[in-house]
Amino acid sequence: MHMSVGVARFPAHGDSGAALLRAADAAMHRAKHQAGATVVLFEPGMANRSGTLLEIEQALGAAIEQCEFVLEYQPKFVARSRELSGFEALVRWQRPGFGRVSPVEFIPAAERTGQIVALGALLLRLAAQQLRRWRAQGLAVLPVAVNVSPLQFEDAGLADWLLAMLSDHGLDPALIEVEITETAAITHMDRVLPQLARLRDAGVGVAFDDFGTGQSSLTLLRRLPITTLKLDRSMIEPLPEPAAGAVVRAACVLADALGLAVVAEGVETEAQAQAAERLGCTHLQGRLLAGPLASEAAAALLVKQP
Ligand code: C2E
Ligand code: MG
Ligand code: MG
Repeated sequence: MHMSVGVARFPAHGDSGAALLRAADAAMHRAKHQAGATVVLFEPGMANRSGTLLEIEQALGAAIEQCEFVLEYQPKFVARSRELSGFEALVRWQRPGFGRVSPVEFIPAAERTGQIVALGALLLRLAAQQLRRWRAQGLAVLPVAVNVSPLQFEDAGLADWLLAMLSDHGLDPALIEVEITETAAITHMDRVLPQLARLRDAGVGVAFDDFGTGQSSLTLLRRLPITTLKLDRSMIEPLPEPAAGAVVRAACVLADALGLAVVAEGVETEAQAQAAERLGCTHLQGRLLAGPLASEAAAALLVKQP
C-alpha cells in the first residue's frame, strides 16, 4: 500500500465543509500523480480542473443507468482497393445540458472510479445491438471494433461474458473486434493474456491500439494473441517523410511476418494514405476517407443483402 494525502485549510481554501472537501480532494488527486507516499497542500489553481473531474465522476453513475451514451462508427478501408472493411465504435456521452462529451474527457474518470466496468459492458452491448439491427435491416454487416479498457479485464469473466452476450444476440464472434492499448497489456498481462487468447480462439478479432506511442515492445507483439496492429496517428502524421516512413515500413514488415493486419490510424491526406499503403499498411482509417459517423450514416455504407 501507499498513501496519497491532500490537505486543505479552513477558511483559506474553503468556507464550507463541501468546499473544503473539494479542495482537499483536488490536492489528493495531485498527490496521486506523484510517486510514493505524498502529501500535497491545496493551491487555488487546482480548483477548477478538479471541480469538473469530480462533477463528471459523480454524474457518470446516473448517465450509465440512463444510458446517455451513443456509439459513432468510423469506417476502416482496405488500403489497396479502398473497399470498406469494418468500423471502429467510438463512444460519445450525450450529456443533458452539456451536449456531446468526448471520450477523452470521461473515460479516464470512469477508469478512476471503476465505473468503466459497467460502462464498458454497456458499450459492448450497444455495439452488438447495432450489428443485430443492421442485419435485421437486410444489410451485409462488417466487423465492429470496440475499445476495451485495461480495467475491464480485472473481471476474469469478461471474455466468457462477451462470448455469451454475442451468442444471445445471434452474432458470429468474428463480427466483433476488441482494441486494447499497450498499457493495458503490460500492466495486466496475467489477466489480459488468457482472456485475449480465449476471445481469439473463439474468432473475436484482437487489435493492438495506438502502437508507437508507448514502449511499443516487440516482445509484447509476439506474446499477445493479436490479429491486428494499429499504428498510432503520430506515426502516420509525418508521412511521407523518409525517416518516419522507415519506421512504418519496419513495423509493417514485422507485423506481416507475424501474420497481422496493419491499420494506419488518423490518415488525413492522400499523400499519407499512399505512403502508408506503399510501406505495407493493409488498412486505412482517418478523416481523409471518413470520420466517425452516426449509425444511420454508417449503415448507408453497408451493402443490402440480396
Ligand atoms: P482511439 O481508439 O485511438 O480512436 C481514434 C481517435 O482518433 C478517435 O477519437 C477518432 O475520432 C480520432 N480520429 C479518427 N480519424 C482521425 C483523423 O484523421 N485525424 C485525427 N486528428 N483524429 C482522428 P475519439 O473518438 O475522441 O476517441 C479518443 C480515444 O478515446 C480513443 O482513441 C479511445 O482510446 C478512447 N475511446 C473511444 N471510445 C471508447 C470506448 O467505447 N471505450 C473505451 N474504453 N475507450 C474509448
Ligand atoms: Mg481504438
Ligand atoms: Mg488508436
